[in-house]
Amino acid sequence: MKNIREFDTCGRIHIPVEIRRKLINNGNGKIEVICEPDAVILVSAQSECAFCNSTDNLVEFKSKLVCESCISELWQCLHLMCKQNCKG
Ligand SMILES: [Zn+2]
Repeated sequence: MKNIREFDTCGRIHIPVEIRRKLINNGNGKIEVICEPDAVILVSAQSECAFCNSTDNLVEFKSKLVCESCISELWQCLHLMCKQNCKG
């Protein structure tokens, strides 16, 4: 199905509400804009880790998503800091 649109004078383009809703409902409420040489592609942004951008095994902490791998690294770092502080 062709859906031809024109940019307005400010460089914006209208995306029909049904397409916006579909994109937003399939992801985390954000849209990823992918620029190709001859196309601009809008896709539902997937939730990702705040540190490494992984999309696997995410846990929410203070409204940020963190993957289990980064949680493990943070835990090791915290453990190491505690050991160093407890020595003195
Ligand atoms: Zn991570």
